[in-house]
Amino acid sequence: MKRAEWIIASALVVIGLLLLSFAGSSMGSMGMMGVMPVGMRLSMMLMILLPTGLVAIAILLIVAIATKWFRSAKKTCEHCGQSLQQNWRTCPYCGHKVTPDV
Ligand SMILES: [Zn+2]
Repeated sequence: MKRAEWIIASALVVIGLLLLSFAGSSMGSMGMMGVMPVGMRLSMMLMILLPTGLVAIAILLIVAIATKWFRSAKKTCEHCGQSLQQNWRTCPYCGHKVTPDV
């Protein structure tokens, strides 16, 4: 992975942890945790953890697809470094044969 992707991934983890701690503290301040049975507490934890995890996975997928799309969209000539269209087989600037992306 590139450095930018690592920064985004670590930022997402931090945001997820912040959301979890915020949810935990707000639930604790309600004063319901002491009264609730253990089973209900666990199910409430799952109700918070599950959507948070799903959202994190969805964001990671979107970031992965976006970076892949940007990389393929920004194709450059290996020879002269000019930006090329994805479907070009030869570079119009220097005539270098472009190897198509797999
Ligand atoms: Zn070129």
